[in-house]
Amino acid sequence: MSTRRRDGTWKRDGAPPLTLTTPITYLRGVGPARAASFEKLGVRTAGDLLYHVPFRYEDASTITPVAKIDVGRDGTVLGTVVSKGIIPTRKGLKIFQAVLKDASGMLELAWPGQPFLDRVIEKGDVILATGTVRFYHGRQFAPREWVNLGPDHAGTAGGRVLSVYAATEGLSYKVIRGILDQHLDALLPLVREYLPADVIAEAGVQPIGEALRAVHRPATMAEAQQGRERLAFDELLGVQLVQRRARAVGRTPRTGIAFRNRKLLGKQLKAALPYELTKAQLRAIKEIVGDMTSEVRMHRLLQGDVGSGKTVVAVFAGLVAMENGYQVAMMAPTELLAEQHARTIEGMLAPLGMSPLLVTGALGAKARREAAARLLSAEPVFAVGTNALVQESSRFARLGLAIVDEQHRFGVAQREQLGAKGEAPDVLLMSATPIPRSLGLTLYGDLDVSVLDERPPGRQPVTTALRPESARASVLAFVRRQLDAGRQAYIVYPVIDESEKTDLKAATTMHALLAEGAFAGRRTALLHGRLPQGERDDIMRRFRDGGIDVLVATTVIEVGIDVPNATVMVVEHPERFGLAQLHQLRGRVGRGAAQSYCILLGGMGAESAARLRIVVESDDGFAIAEADLRLRGMGDLFGERQSGVPTFRIADPLRDATLNATARAIADRLLAADPELAQPAHEPLRAMLGARYRRALELFRVG
Ligand code: ADP
Ligand code: MG
Repeated sequence: MSTRRRDGTWKRDGAPPLTLTTPITYLRGVGPARAASFEKLGVRTAGDLLYHVPFRYEDASTITPVAKIDVGRDGTVLGTVVSKGIIPTRKGLKIFQAVLKDASGMLELAWPGQPFLDRVIEKGDVILATGTVRFYHGRQFAPREWVNLGPDHAGTAGGRVLSVYAATEGLSYKVIRGILDQHLDALLPLVREYLPADVIAEAGVQPIGEALRAVHRPATMAEAQQGRERLAFDELLGVQLVQRRARAVGRTPRTGIAFRNRKLLGKQLKAALPYELTKAQLRAIKEIVGDMTSEVRMHRLLQGDVGSGKTVVAVFAGLVAMENGYQVAMMAPTELLAEQHARTIEGMLAPLGMSPLLVTGALGAKARREAAARLLSAEPVFAVGTNALVQESSRFARLGLAIVDEQHRFGVAQREQLGAKGEAPDVLLMSATPIPRSLGLTLYGDLDVSVLDERPPGRQPVTTALRPESARASVLAFVRRQLDAGRQAYIVYPVIDESEKTDLKAATTMHALLAEGAFAGRRTALLHGRLPQGERDDIMRRFRDGGIDVLVATTVIEVGIDVPNATVMVVEHPERFGLAQLHQLRGRVGRGAAQSYCILLGGMGAESAARLRIVVESDDGFAIAEADLRLRGMGDLFGERQSGVPTFRIADPLRDATLNATARAIADRLLAADPELAQPAHEPLRAMLGARYRRALELFRVG
């Protein structure tokens, strides 16, 4: 039984009422499959959908009749596909062509090198395209940007401005548009304003409900622009508030342990190391020891690209605590990484007559009891482990230094729990996520930051190459030669499974194919995010220990994993990855003395090739992150969840400089009057910040 709502949609009886937190699956028109695709766009709830705003618009009010469009000039056309096909050229390039018809006549559209569009564009579809007309066996239109409005598109009846949404595998722009159209009227009344009225007035922006309507369903470009401005303002204000609050918290003195710098153990370690520390490492150690010997509690972030040598810096810090009779706890996100650290640190401490203590959930009951006893004894100990370190059963007699590796992988609560063990231990956070300098480490204004901006010498940069699909056989042959030389390889795919909607190669299918084909007779394994963590760790362990030759994987390969014998990585569909992500992936090879290789296979569209060439030519994580930021915008750089960095999806602090200045002034005023936004009038704003920015949770004590 269904009943009809006043707004014309149908409500299934017994279904819970629609709220902004309703999971997207429950919305009409969205099933589990589409919900999974929405998830990839960061859309989980009805409220998220409302904030999935168009990333651009097609202004159909400037359409030129196809018969009138001039050669060599830019123009926008709208028409119905009357015929289509793939034309091969003599040079082996395939061109997809479609003939578009409107009231004035016909025009041939051509997409060189994109034969797959044959599966995307059908006869009868209405296409809106912007581009240039060239002379090529008659007039030919080369679309620069285009939208398929689908077969049942009745002109531009719903307004002349068309919203274009970010789409993903299994979820076209058009489907998203349909779903939003269907639910917008029901969702908008649920939105509550979170900005105080005086802030809205001062900033001169629209109320939130109006703004959301304007961005999704604008009547004019100007209207869309106005709506966008409000949403951009919210982001700028949010980040300003978080930043300012972070800086204020950082200035509040925190009393900690004032260690004495005895320079005993550090000196011994330095003498025992098989290498010289880099200048950057020496600088970071000096900064950390400076903090540790001061009375102020250390709260420092050690940032360095993969392979920059953060672990040894952390060990030097640990030794300062230990020679003062204190304990050290170093927490890693997975058992595998904890084990790896324990091994590395074992090697470093052995010449000093010490050894680390491994504390993970995998320890047997007896080992666990022994570990607990050692932590409770007053003896200085270097404990390395997983979040087992913060569990109730792990009690420290005298914790002096808490180190968190890959800090963004932990929740605020876990990090705080480790810091809360013992009496105000110094805290060292480590991260390999290269936050672009322009974005400003000021986002971490409450932390002091040390940066390892130098690679240890002697390690050759990973030779990176971009190869076309046609080179597949020779690329695989190259990988086999590396295997023959006793090396190991990673083959990386953007997705786990194949789907009908795209022609992306997937890890699962390709693993089956490669295991039988190119890598027949080699030991292969498949690794992806749907496997339980324990199983993933197991596979990685086997790979690390040389029991697997070829690891076919998605991006779940651990960031910090150190398998020096793995010397080659092939990334398929590299255009599907962010540049910063590719750089991090590449960091899994090139960890030994041997020359390593990263081959980006495919991704040869002119635009993506230009983008990918940045990774081919640069080895500097920060520079690559900057470039990614410029090219793809903030939202795509790293998911906020992944990096913990508040990102902009709509605003651009450079382009929106004036709006940003307004946001800054308002943030100052708000925080001067109410530093923790604790006043009842600021409650909705505080809740919004907490929901959007993980950093805000700890800074404003939301919840
Ligand atoms: P990350 O910063 O990614 O955690 P690691 O601490 O794992 O980097 O170090 C990467 C590799 O570099 C390790 O094998 C380590 O032994 C080595 N290494 C670290 N510092 C130096 C150095 N100064 N000279 C040579 N090798 C170094
Ligand atoms: Mg590391």
